[in-house]
Amino acid sequence: MNVKILGNGGFYNEGLPYNAMAIDGHVLVETPPDILQSLMRQRMRPPQMDTVFISHIHGDHCFGFPFFFFNWLYWGDADSHYKKGSRLAVIGPGGLSGHLRELMRLAIPPEHPYLRDFDERVQIIEIDEDDVIAVKGNLWFGFRRTAHSLPTFSLIAGEVGRAGGVPSSSDYLEKALFVYSSDTSMFEGVRVLLGSGAKLILCDTNGENEKEVHMSPRELMAAATAQGLSGADSGRLRGIHMSRRMERVGELRFVQPGEEFTLL
Ligand SMILES: [Zn+2]
Repeated sequence: MNVKILGNGGFYNEGLPYNAMAIDGHVLVETPPDILQSLMRQRMRPPQMDTVFISHIHGDHCFGFPFFFFNWLYWGDADSHYKKGSRLAVIGPGGLSGHLRELMRLAIPPEHPYLRDFDERVQIIEIDEDDVIAVKGNLWFGFRRTAHSLPTFSLIAGEVGRAGGVPSSSDYLEKALFVYSSDTSMFEGVRVLLGSGAKLILCDTNGENEKEVHMSPRELMAAATAQGLSGADSGRLRGIHMSRRMERVGELRFVQPGEEFTLL
């Protein structure tokens, strides 16, 4: 599995590209306001995506969706998804469908055919705790609720071939290759993620001291140590969703745009 970092900034970010990533070049994780710029900066194009995961409906995770979808649909003219009749799978929490449609209605006059395109071409998959689903490209995704102000899900991802099929809700954490916590304060569920078998665990920490909404690097590293992640594992655990540009705080390193991980 290949994970490419497109952006690493949180809601407040002093000009960083907003938190987003791509899996295997065809799954987009989060659609922040600047997602088109972040994709282009990494020489990626919207239409190469067939699946989108949106962890929750705060604006720094979904306000780019109307622009992403418009470009996804029409990019390539005669060879566009519009002409080919393709559909885009969008995975996220309950209520995502209505919220995205409202964003689109605000972005463009309601009589615009683009709203009909959304109804016809976007397949919304609303998920819940411990759901495990098959995803295009021989992937599977599982989901865990976080401790945040809106329904928010962590993404737990793996490969069908490597796991011997789509794992069950009881063993998907140990079969994971990649975990993305999304927005969360410290709670028991973070320790569950840290105890997974994933080769890369990206955790929400704004890089600041404790402020309740996001984890601080200090409390994240303390939880990792309690979970038995040693210094040798420090490459597995990384911070994302930062408040300003940082390389590391203590032992915790932050991911940077353009950084790429090959997870075997
Ligand atoms: Zn949030």
